Amino acid sequence: MRKALIAGNWKMNLNLEEAALLVNRLKSIDFDESEKEVIIAPSFVYLPELVKLLKDSRVKIFAQNVHHEKSGAFTGEISIDMLKNIGVSGSIVGHSERRIIFKETDELINKKIKTAVKEKFPIIFCVGETLEQRMADVHEEVVNTQVGLGLEGIDEIDMNHITIAYEPVWAIGTGKTASSSDAEAMHKSIRNFLAKKYNKALADSIRILYGGSVKPENISELMAMENIDGALVGGASLKAESFIKIINY
Ligand code: PEP
Repeated sequence: MRKALIAGNWKMNLNLEEAALLVNRLKSIDFDESEKEVIIAPSFVYLPELVKLLKDSRVKIFAQNVHHEKSGAFTGEISIDMLKNIGVSGSIVGHSERRIIFKETDELINKKIKTAVKEKFPIIFCVGETLEQRMADVHEEVVNTQVGLGLEGIDEIDMNHITIAYEPVWAIGTGKTASSSDAEAMHKSIRNFLAKKYNKALADSIRILYGGSVKPENISELMAMENIDGALVGGASLKAESFIKIINY
């Protein structure tokens, strides 16, 4: 049985006061931790403050990105040790904005995942196709190639630190959501890929989130799909009303 996971990616949004207000609203929500996990990924600069605010809460804090080296001359970067040191529980890796705007490659993403599993640091590993790739009907091949390259050299035993997020690039921040059946088809394809790469038991145990314009209006339909285990939410995670509705789908 895979535990549902609802994660909010706040990207480069909110000031400290707004972030703290939102966190205080999220703190008060009631959900069964044995059935559901809730994560927020705020900006790096607010992490220490928000970790303190969420002490003793069931809501966990992730970073939006992380560097693969332990320390050193990497101006502007943040290591897993630094995040662990302030009580951050994990990180998103390979978001399409990192891939497209900041030119992160599959090879770099693989290095981050390798370090993360070595450090037992949970990761939400993002993959997804562009509109052109979907139109050309190569979306499954593209996404499974990203999954394969990102997980190269990752042993079965370390896969328990990884959650995959399928986020079609054309659905992120656009208001366009993949239909629940298209999303389900991709999730199933990723699971089949994992079954071939590892084995069926492993593939059945890995959580695969959907991301791309998830809203209170579409979350229940998405969550009703057999292979969709949760959501990575951007815009709708910035307002308490909509994010709480999504968490309570
Ligand atoms: C995201 O960036 O991970 C995302 C899914 O954004 P949105 O929900 O705004 O489409």
